[in-house]
Amino acid sequence: MSTNNNWQETLKDGRHLLPSHIRPEHYQLTLEPLLENSEAAIEGKDLNFLGNVVVRLKILQTTNLITLHSKDLELTKVYCIFNSSETVPVSDVSYDKEQQTVSLEFPKPFEASSEVTLYIDFIGFLNDKMVGFYRAKYRTKDGETRFMATTHFEPTDARCAFPCWDEPAVKATFEVTLIAPADRDCLSNMNVISEQYNDAGKKVVRFEKTPIMSTYLLVFIVGEFDYIEGYTTNGLPVRVYTAKESAHLGEFALNVGIRTLNFFTDFFGIPYPLPKMDFVAIPDFGSGAMENWGCITFRDMLLLVDPMNTSSEIRTIVAEVVAHELAHQWFGNLVTMEWWTHLWLNEGFATWAAYLAVDHLFPDWEVWKDFVSSTFASALKLDSLASSHPIEVDVKKASDVNEIFDAISYNKGASVIRMLADHMSLSSFQQGLQVYLKQFLYKNATTNDLWKTLEQVSGKPIVRIMSLWTRQTGYPLIEIKLNEKKEFILEQKRFLANGKPAGGQWTVMLRYIVSSSPSQVKCRLMEGPQEELNHVLGKQDKWLKVNAYQSGVYRVNYPQFVWEALSEATKNGELDAMDRLGLSMDSFALARSGFLPTSTALLLICSFKDETEYACWVNLLSNFEGLSLAFGTNDEHCSQLLNRFFCHILRGIASQLGWKRKEDEQHSISLLRPKVLQALVDYQDSHTIEIAKKHFNKYVEDPNSVDTDLRIVAMAAAVSQGGREEYEKVKEMYETFTLNEEKVRCLRVLGRIPDPQLAEKMLDWSWKHVRPGDFMFALYSLAMNRHKGPQLVWHYMQTHWNDLLERYGNGGNHMLSNLIRASTSRLSSKEDAQQVETFFHENQVEGCERIIEQSIEEINVVASWYQRDRENILSWLNKYLNE
Ligand SMILES: [Zn+2]
Repeated sequence: MSTNNNWQETLKDGRHLLPSHIRPEHYQLTLEPLLENSEAAIEGKDLNFLGNVVVRLKILQTTNLITLHSKDLELTKVYCIFNSSETVPVSDVSYDKEQQTVSLEFPKPFEASSEVTLYIDFIGFLNDKMVGFYRAKYRTKDGETRFMATTHFEPTDARCAFPCWDEPAVKATFEVTLIAPADRDCLSNMNVISEQYNDAGKKVVRFEKTPIMSTYLLVFIVGEFDYIEGYTTNGLPVRVYTAKESAHLGEFALNVGIRTLNFFTDFFGIPYPLPKMDFVAIPDFGSGAMENWGCITFRDMLLLVDPMNTSSEIRTIVAEVVAHELAHQWFGNLVTMEWWTHLWLNEGFATWAAYLAVDHLFPDWEVWKDFVSSTFASALKLDSLASSHPIEVDVKKASDVNEIFDAISYNKGASVIRMLADHMSLSSFQQGLQVYLKQFLYKNATTNDLWKTLEQVSGKPIVRIMSLWTRQTGYPLIEIKLNEKKEFILEQKRFLANGKPAGGQWTVMLRYIVSSSPSQVKCRLMEGPQEELNHVLGKQDKWLKVNAYQSGVYRVNYPQFVWEALSEATKNGELDAMDRLGLSMDSFALARSGFLPTSTALLLICSFKDETEYACWVNLLSNFEGLSLAFGTNDEHCSQLLNRFFCHILRGIASQLGWKRKEDEQHSISLLRPKVLQALVDYQDSHTIEIAKKHFNKYVEDPNSVDTDLRIVAMAAAVSQGGREEYEKVKEMYETFTLNEEKVRCLRVLGRIPDPQLAEKMLDWSWKHVRPGDFMFALYSLAMNRHKGPQLVWHYMQTHWNDLLERYGNGGNHMLSNLIRASTSRLSSKEDAQQVETFFHENQVEGCERIIEQSIEEINVVASWYQRDRENILSWLNKYLNE
């Protein structure tokens, strides 16, 4: 019997799904990674693992063919036990490489409802691609190189560790046994129930049975760890596992983890269902963290906090990542998306809920402002491309999935949820969520299931309103005009970064304020393409600000005189920080797309000279970078004028902040200081560069003498203004540091070296010496190099394409997408766009088509902006700087 043509029967909505007439109910899985062969792996040879899986099946339709997922596994023995007694050996095993399946044919049919247990022995390969069941390299205290075995399965790589039904909706229970060298620790989703030694002297560790769950959430780890432990108010043990003798670095994450678990248990109204929660720091990691149920794995930099060496920025990110992964324990793990099309349900939700939790834990951090300046901003940026995709995206096969772990699924998803929660009120939204979670406990759900539940709870037409937001690509631009009666007219159309006209219509949750009553937010729904606001601009109203508190997913453009009035209002402190931030974001995006002269956006920037809000500065600085990229990359004259302008705007806040942390200063001030000083270094402020270099010399003498937040500024100044000496010094620091965060800090500055030969050497050195998961930092840092850095990175990418593909290509995660983004994100001319297009036309790469298209589109947007507005900004800057 052929295996390849039965896919036709199973295409549902064009999705490549396994035949549904057989379902797994329970797996018993034993895995033995052969880690004692580490020396072979150091020499580049394979490390293997042995496996055995026993699956109790449910036969729904009579068949003699069992098809399941299997990738890069060799099945060495296969048979079935039929009705508890009869052994039926397999008659044919055929692999389908493209579909990543294996089909097992048996000599007799198994009848529906009969009891069938499938036995498979197999051999697999512990790869070094950071996906599936893989090896991660670490060094012991004695300097010996060893490997741990660990997993990363989401979205579709459980099939690399054992033959299984690897689809999120095919849930089952699992009993896991790991066999390991006697001196290693074994971790999995559940608690250990027994530990014995086999005849070979190896440890045999059995874990408790899991609840019913999806395969992508399983985890198996064999390594060497220390841990610290604490308990939630319900008595749940929480542990942080780190490298040996580093357990104290887990204190911060442990504390955040316990408090977040308490918070979510309360918020979701459902206790956390597993008997323990582990956080594990993994040295080689492809993404940020992975929410494996009961045993979350982390890139070690995003879990470990060293009070002496960790920056305020990383501390904030650790809190957010821990909260994000914990939100998944309910949203994703307990209730799982039915198919990858609804990935955003997991990711958008966890992103939103992480802010909710961190805001609860650290109210003085005011993280919702950061939400707007980072999460919301990046969603709107990506979604303004014609090549964006809807939140609910069509996914057909495994290779389609990786590309959608992007700012749309995470950040637009989270922004749409925040908008809806504001529209419904948080308490009504929370009530709806609790009902939804209870209804789909241990099951799968679709986006529509969530909307329907929220509609029932709130009595509002949520399905109709929200479907437009999740099924349409893009978001609206609300254009505000005045008619002859001086009434405001609102028009909506899709906002495109290339400025082209586009269709599309959304139900827009309008909230606006006017200057005569700025604290009174007026709300209404806008459903048509054009509406009157029924608000006459009276004499008492100097301005109107639409999208109050920046909660709606849209941009707003005003008539020129309103922009000018809003600039004044910003300067005079009449607007809330969120609204100032919104104006800055919108004006810049509109200028970049040709809806507004760039000079209007520059005028607005001037109103922020006395700004002290961190989130506003994050956006302003990102706008400075955008201007610098478009107008300064290939135009020395423009570049110099822009640098002078930026320094002029930044000097006020820089002198307010100073170089010394004040006792008990706000967290956001500690975050802001390095950003502002770094920008002044980048824009060639000689005074700041001089002080930063002094800090670098102090740092070289005694690393603890410089504030953790300022180290990056000191190093960046030294390297970007320096030569071989500074470069070698930072490289040497990289070698001596043990904390990964500090190593990464070195990588983030090394690429800034002005000498192009050293810059290229830096990449070759990083390729050989830096962990594969950290290589991206080296690429990004060279891309930020003002001396032809973007071109050097792009050149490296083209000339090393095969090596890059070999290392990152077969990875199931999105590292290749990141690589493409890193190497194209700072290109800025039409010729660059053409080159990228030609290169990827000749080197097509499956699963990255959309990211390539988006990269090309981004470059063209930047290039058109330069052509369109160069004269406009030159004349404005000349006038401003000479006044
Ligand atoms: Zn997530």
